Amino acid sequence: MQINLEGMSIAVLGGDERSLVIIEELLASGAVVNTAGLPADLLPAGVNCLSKPEAGLAGVGGVILPVPGVNEKGQLYCPLIPKPLVLTRELAACFPPGIPIFTGVIRPYLAKIAAITGLRLIELMERNEVAILNSIPTAEGAIQMAMEMLPITIHGSCAIVLGFGRVGATLARLLGVMGARTRVVARRPEHLARITELNLVPVPFAGMSHYLEEADVIFNTIPALVLTGKVLERIPAGTLILDLASAPGGVDFQKAASIGIKAVLAPGIPGKVAPKTAGRILAKVIIDLLQEETFGN
Ligand code: NAP
Repeated sequence: MQINLEGMSIAVLGGDERSLVIIEELLASGAVVNTAGLPADLLPAGVNCLSKPEAGLAGVGGVILPVPGVNEKGQLYCPLIPKPLVLTRELAACFPPGIPIFTGVIRPYLAKIAAITGLRLIELMERNEVAILNSIPTAEGAIQMAMEMLPITIHGSCAIVLGFGRVGATLARLLGVMGARTRVVARRPEHLARITELNLVPVPFAGMSHYLEEADVIFNTIPALVLTGKVLERIPAGTLILDLASAPGGVDFQKAASIGIKAVLAPGIPGKVAPKTAGRILAKVIIDLLQEETFGN
C-alpha cells in the first residue's frame, strides 16, 4: 500500500520524542502538520507551530495526543515544554466532529471529556499491532535495566517472568535466548503449553510462590497486585524485581523495601530506551488508520 496523506491536515498536541518522530513520518506521507505543546526548535521544517492549539484544529482529519495521554488534572503529557497544555472541555469542543483522536492510553479524565464532547478516541496501546511491536523495546529496555542492576550476567541467571501476554512473551523469549534459566508464570493452559514449546519452564499461576525464592530477577508484567506482602515474604532479600505493569504495578513496594527486596516500577520503557522505534511503530499504525478511513484502502 502506498502511504499518502497528501492534503490532509493533522494536529499533534503535546508529547515527547515519539511525537516528533510521528510528525516526521506524517510530513513524509504528505500530511500538513499543525502542532502545539512541542518546542519549535525541535520541530522539522514545514510544521505549523501554534501558540494556541485551538488555532490549528479547524478542518483537521485527526488529532494526535501524547502516548501517556492526559493526567487527572487534564494536562497533556508535554515534557519538552515548561508548561503543559490542558485539554479543557472548550478545547475538546474545537475538534471537528467524528475525526479520530489518537492517544496511547485513555485515562479517566480523557474518557470523561470524550463522553461529554463526543470525541472518537483510538487507544493505540490497546491495539495488538502496536502492543506486540512495542513489546520489543520494552523487553530490551527491561533486560538492560536488569543488566545494570544485577551483579551477575543474564546468562545463567534465574529469571522469572510473571505474565505471558504481549510483553511477557517477548521478554521471556529474549531472556531464554540470552541463556537465562527462564521460568514463566501464566494462568491459561494454552500459555503454559506455549511456554513449554519455547523450551522455557512453565509455572502455573497458583504455584508461583514456590518458585520465586530461586529467582535472581523477577519481571512482573501482570497489571494486578500479584506480589503481595505475603508472597514477598518467600523471596530472599537481595532479589531484584522489575515491575513493568502499568501504575500502580503489581508489587507491594512498601513491604518489599521493608524486607530488603529491591523492587522498581519501570514505566514507559520504549519512550526512554528507543523513542525512534517507538515513534515509528505508532506512526505506521496512525497513518495506516488515517489512510484507511479517509481513502478506504
Ligand atoms: P497483556 O497482553 O494483556 O498481558 C497481561 C498478562 O497478565 C497476561 O498473561 C494475563 O493473563 C495476565 N494477567 C492479567 N491479570 C491477571 C491476574 N489478575 N492474575 C494473573 N494474571 C493476570 O498485557 P501486555 O501488553 O503484556 O502489558 C502488560 C503490562 O505492561 C500492562 O500493564 C501494560 O500497560 C504494561 N506495559 C508497560 C510497558 C513499560 O514500558 N513498562 C510497556 C508496555 C506495556 P491472561 O492472558 O490469562 O489474562
